[in-house]
Amino acid sequence: MKPIQTILYATDFSDSSLPACEYAVYLAQLAGARLQVLHVIGEFADKRKSRIQPETLALLEREVEIQAFKSMEEFCHDHIGTTVPCDSEVVMGLPFQEILKQAEAIDADLIVIGSHGRTGLEHVLVGSTAERLVRRSVRPVLTIRSRGV
Ligand code: AMP
Repeated sequence: MKPIQTILYATDFSDSSLPACEYAVYLAQLAGARLQVLHVIGEFADKRKSRIQPETLALLEREVEIQAFKSMEEFCHDHIGTTVPCDSEVVMGLPFQEILKQAEAIDADLIVIGSHGRTGLEHVLVGSTAERLVRRSVRPVLTIRSRGV
C-alpha cells in the first residue's frame, strides 16, 4: 500500500462536514501527511439559459468567490490552525466532479468528506456528493457520518 502523504478534505463549510475535518486532521497527524482543504462553489446559473446579463453574472460570481475565500480562511483558522501542514483551494463547478479533479491534480492518497452536507436530509443514508464520490472515485474515500444525522 502506498503511504498516505496527501489527504484531500472537501467541505461545504456546513456543520455536517466538521466531524470529517476532525478525522482528516487526525489522520494527517498520524500519517505525517499534508492536508488539502477544498471548497467548491456550485455554479448557480446555467450561463446558456440564464436571463441574467453576463456582466451582472460575472459580478455576482466574483462576490460569491470573495465570500468563499473569506469563509475558507475562517474555516482553516477555526478548525485546522497549525495542527498540520495545510493548503486550501476554492474552485467553481460541480462539487463531486471538482473534488475528483482536485484529487487527481494533487495525487491524493485519501479523500475525506462528510456523509452529509448542507441539505442534511435525515432520511437519506448519504448525501448526493458523497454518494457520487464513493461510486466514482478510484482513490479511497472516507465518509464520516455527521453528528445527529
Ligand atoms: P452531500 O453529499 O452534498 O450531502 O455532502 C457530503 C459531503 O461532501 C459534505 O459533508 C462535504 O464534506 C462534501 N461537500 C459537499 N458539497 C461540497 C462543496 N460544495 N464543496 C466541497 N465539499 C463539498
